[in-house]
Amino acid sequence: AMQGSSGREEERILVSVRLRPLNGKEALRKEAVDWECINGNTIVYKNNLSPERSLYPNYFTFDRVFRSDCTTRQVYEEGAKAVVLSVVSGINSSVFAYGQTSSGKTFTMSGITEYTMEDIFDYIQKHKERDFHLKFSAMEIYNESVRDLLTTDNSLLRLLDDPERGTVVEKLTEETLRDWDHFKELLAMCEAQRQIGETFLNEVSSRSHQILRLTIESSNREFLGKNNCSTLSATLNFVDLAGSERASQALSAGSRLKEGSHINRSLLTLGTVIRKLSKGQTGHIPYRDSKLTRILQSSLGGNARTAVICTLSPARSYVEQSRNTLLFASCAK
Ligand code: ADP
Ligand code: MG
Repeated sequence: AMQGSSGREEERILVSVRLRPLNGKEALRKEAVDWECINGNTIVYKNNLSPERSLYPNYFTFDRVFRSDCTTRQVYEEGAKAVVLSVVSGINSSVFAYGQTSSGKTFTMSGITEYTMEDIFDYIQKHKERDFHLKFSAMEIYNESVRDLLTTDNSLLRLLDDPERGTVVEKLTEETLRDWDHFKELLAMCEAQRQIGETFLNEVSSRSHQILRLTIESSNREFLGKNNCSTLSATLNFVDLAGSERASQALSAGSRLKEGSHINRSLLTLGTVIRKLSKGQTGHIPYRDSKLTRILQSSLGGNARTAVICTLSPARSYVEQSRNTLLFASCAK
């Protein structure tokens, strides 16, 4: 990842990989596990029996690699915390879970979301000198359509270009977040809305992106009501991405996207955007090519910080998918 001028902890894009344990079904099938995390930064593919395999890279190095016995707490502490908590200092940030369906994206992201919120509420408790205002919203992007997850109204939301705020999601519900219980209530609401979507359309959860968005405004109490520069405002996005299997299918079918495969548009554009940003490219970044990147634009470029957590299924039968995920992760680094 690109390094900031003041050192490693300032890294703009933090990329890590999490290997999950075999699940019950895979264990019953006696699936082989060929992946090994040989240290905190490197994951290795050990099975190199077939000749064409030797053409592939077998070592992949990232900012952090988490073995299958690591807890989500560890993943949070080492793979996300520094990035997500910069929101209290007024820096926009995003954390993404990327990987094939069933690799552990939702499992990982929901833990990270909870640990982050705990830490943020804790920080607010300890900083009484500042006045904090938290706003929470939640949306789902399915087939390049945006839906609010905090209302029972299923209508699709439009994106508007605001000269001051950039891209805004029109009519998106923004709840003022009171406390932990309120946060849990809103999460339950999102989950219920996602379930409803699932009953009308197939495979919504593997084909849609979910964004939970927290905006924190704070000002120094001493200066409240006065015209000064002590007000901070920043947005943090928790992004549980659609299953990456479709993106790689689309890629292998040629670089032109098939009609109707919009799901790939957001995922592929995100890949392109992150790749360009991580290389420090300052030229054209194609934020406007997808809904996801338009919505996240202000939390991706500039001085915003990003954590990408790539989740991996360990089973041999998923080796090609896992390799695609690692190649994505390598490009983001
Ligand atoms: P995805 O969101 O990528 O489709 P999930 O997060 O739903 O995948 O995970 C699939 C299943 O595997 C779930 O039952 C989940 O609880 C389990 N799982 C995922 N990651 C882990 C892990 N690191 N440890 C234990 N179980 C996990
Ligand atoms: Mg999921």
